[in-house]
Order: sequence, then C-alpha cells, then structure tokens
Amino acid sequence: MTMQNLPLEGGCRCGQVRLKISAPPLLTMACHCTGCQKMSSSAYSLSAAIPADGFEVTAGEPVIGGLHGATRHYFCPHCLTWMFTRPEGMDWFVNLRPTMLDDASWFSPFIETFTGEKLPWAATAAVHSYETIPPMETYAVLVKEFAEKQPAA
Ligand SMILES: [Zn+2]
Ligand SMILES: [Zn+2]
Repeated sequence: MTMQNLPLEGGCRCGQVRLKISAPPLLTMACHCTGCQKMSSSAYSLSAAIPADGFEVTAGEPVIGGLHGATRHYFCPHCLTWMFTRPEGMDWFVNLRPTMLDDASWFSPFIETFTGEKLPWAATAAVHSYETIPPMETYAVLVKEFAEKQPAA
C-alpha cells in the first residue's frame, strides 16, 4: 500500500458532501457482516480508521442513517451515499468508507471481520481474518503491525 501525500480529499456520489483527511489510517478493514452487506448494497463494507482530529467534513451536512443507534452512520442528505461511521464509545477515530476519497487506489483492507457471515465467494486481500471481530486487546497489536507495514513518509 502506498498512500499519496496527505491531505486527501473526497466526497459522496453527487459531490454535495466533501471531506478531507490529514492523518493516515490507524487500521484498514473490510466487514462481511449482514448489516454491512445491506448498508453497502454489496458483499462487504470497507473502512479506514482515521484519527478524529485528522478528519474533516469540508462541505455539506451529512445525516444519520442505518439503525440510528449509538454507532452513528453518516450519509449524504441528497444522494444518500454511506460515507463514514462514528462507532459507539470510540470518539478518537472515524471509520471512513475509503472509496469516498478522490483517489482510493492506495487502499487495501488489513483485516476482515465477520467472515462467519460472508457470501460464499467473497474474498478480500486482508492479512488477518476474524469470524466475528478481533478481541478488544488485539486492536493495539493490529494497529502497531499495520503502522510498521506502511512505507516511511
Ligand atoms: Zn451526495
Ligand atoms: Zn459490518
């Protein structure tokens, strides 16, 4: 994975909501859970965990969608693209759908979750696979391992 120079900009399908990231991801993920299958209208969702202070909505007003629960899923109010997620109780990062970025060619999922619910043919380039989610204490190790694999800036 080679990431372009930060910041990277992006937006929804219609362009009404625009965003900018100025920090590299802590971790990259694909999720095969049935909830992500529905929300992505596809086989799995993609996430890049961006430190909250390196993430900014620069245009438009995203609205809450999905289950409207404690984990907040943000959508463009016009084209209804699922853009990013603020997970419950974890306000130090934002899970951005990396295909919102104008250039997502650098993106590759480092881990994949909920393979127990995946479509039989669905496969990703993930280095680590989990039947559900990694145990909480594993995340620190994954973040460290992911950082070590990134090319020096
Ligand atoms: Zn839009
Ligand atoms: Zn999921």
